[in-house]
Amino acid sequence: MQKPEKFVCAGCTLLCDDIEIDPRAANWSPKNTCALGSQYFAQPLSSTQTHFVDGETATLEQAVQSASQLLRESKSPLICGLDQLSTEAQQASWKIADISRATIDTTFTNRGRSSIFSLQKTGKVTATLGEIKSRSDLVIFWFCDPEVTHPRLLERINPQNTNRSQRILVVGDQETATTKIADRFIQVSAENAFELLVNVRSQLASLSKTPTSLPAKDCLSDIEITANELVKELVGAKYGSILYQQVTENSQFDPTSDSISELIRSLNDITRFIGLKLRTDDNAQSAENVLAWSSGFPFAVNHNLGHPRQHGLEFSAESMLQTKQCDAILFASRLSTSELVKRLSGAARTHFQAIPKIAFSTHTIPANVQFQMGIHGINEAGERCRLDNLSLPLKKVEPNEWVPPEAILEKIRQNLLAHL
Ligand code: SF4
Repeated sequence: MQKPEKFVCAGCTLLCDDIEIDPRAANWSPKNTCALGSQYFAQPLSSTQTHFVDGETATLEQAVQSASQLLRESKSPLICGLDQLSTEAQQASWKIADISRATIDTTFTNRGRSSIFSLQKTGKVTATLGEIKSRSDLVIFWFCDPEVTHPRLLERINPQNTNRSQRILVVGDQETATTKIADRFIQVSAENAFELLVNVRSQLASLSKTPTSLPAKDCLSDIEITANELVKELVGAKYGSILYQQVTENSQFDPTSDSISELIRSLNDITRFIGLKLRTDDNAQSAENVLAWSSGFPFAVNHNLGHPRQHGLEFSAESMLQTKQCDAILFASRLSTSELVKRLSGAARTHFQAIPKIAFSTHTIPANVQFQMGIHGINEAGERCRLDNLSLPLKKVEPNEWVPPEAILEKIRQNLLAHL
């Protein structure tokens, strides 16, 4: 009997690579997935790949011609939604941005970008899941609920079959599925999260000057007492890991991300600590890597002057749409039109709806040219970046003749080059 093959699940950024599927079975079903992963593999699949030009079905060549013409006619094209593409397709998108003097960005919105700003300001001390699993004796989940967002994370980093004890601590504003299985839950409101970090850092600073000088409890405020308890946990660890999410995912900037990076740096003067962001933004980490390696900037890169430029979020997709600085858009999305426009602010939404669109999508959406994408890891192959920045190749479960986005983007690039 043939063994089931191993596949990678793209249901979340944990990318579990031990999913067993027998693709020869007529109604295959995945083994080792969590509920989220099972939902991912149960998505309805289209049996044929169809492309559209102005709402009418078209051959791939016709759609490529129309897309290339739209890009040639545009004075300031915008390319975005790279987080929905494989690494190979992200690389192809950047090549198009380079020759068409386009602006290119990883996602559609300005929100949730705090970790990249922190990385630029403070750098990062991080580790792979394997290192956390084999070395960490304290894992702190900071304002996140991996039992919901990355359901198999604890099983991956805290295996039950080792003798090593690993303490799980949650810091957050409410009880969650993760607090139920944690060894300890420290409750603090989201508004006080930053103040707590400031207190922890200041207590650590005095501790490193005079190693026995943690303040007496009776002269401390509530937040200082909480900080004091947290400091005791932190300095008691031989190898600690702080796994976090942005406290307010809706904001562009999040001072707690910077503060966590600073905290991890100071903890490394006393013991060993690493930080890892539990990203929930699909393949955005790979998109940041591709843009950083290709252009020198990890997001919101403008090629209008013939060379890459970046200035904070000035050239982000949302800003370009809001300020009407783009006159055509090429994007990838796995959302329906209504879900997609809901993510944009009012002004950005209006301009998005007004300009010519070239879409790579799993849904049928109103666009001048639409290329149909498959579902990554099921009927589309390609690389993705795991949350600890490790690239994993995803293969198709079902063989098909679909042309992947990277091949279509390369055809568009060749067409653009032929008309230069
Ligand atoms: S934890 Fe994430 S990657 Fe792993 S099986 Fe569940 S959804 Fe898939």
